[in-house]
Amino acid sequence: MSRQPGPDRLPGWRDMPAGAVITEAGNAARYQTGDWRSVRPEWSQEKCIQCLICWVFCPDGAIIVKDGRIAEFDFEHCKGCGICAQECPPKVKAIKMVPEEEMTEVK
Ligand code: SF4
Ligand code: SF4
Repeated sequence: MSRQPGPDRLPGWRDMPAGAVITEAGNAARYQTGDWRSVRPEWSQEKCIQCLICWVFCPDGAIIVKDGRIAEFDFEHCKGCGICAQECPPKVKAIKMVPEEEMTEVK
């Protein structure tokens, strides 16, 4: 009989549900999807009109809102998909995607 997964044993394929269906909501918080990002959103606080469209569309919940306003980006979980930049209103364009190697400030 196999041991149960726990802190001392990662789950193996026998522990996975058929079809690898994800049954637990919110489990992405445990994975640092920012590790494999090659481009990152560069946000202009000055241009931003705080419409929150980017926050609605971000698939990783990586845009942090405080008091109803965009406060910062969570770069441990932002995977660099660019959806936020795509959805930011064209007349505003407060987010542009920048290759990681061009970033001067490490966050
Ligand atoms: S690049 Fe993707 S994951 Fe990162 S903040 Fe924008 S929408 Fe979210
Ligand atoms: S979509 Fe653009 S303008 Fe709207 S909150 Fe996000 S960055 Fe700001």
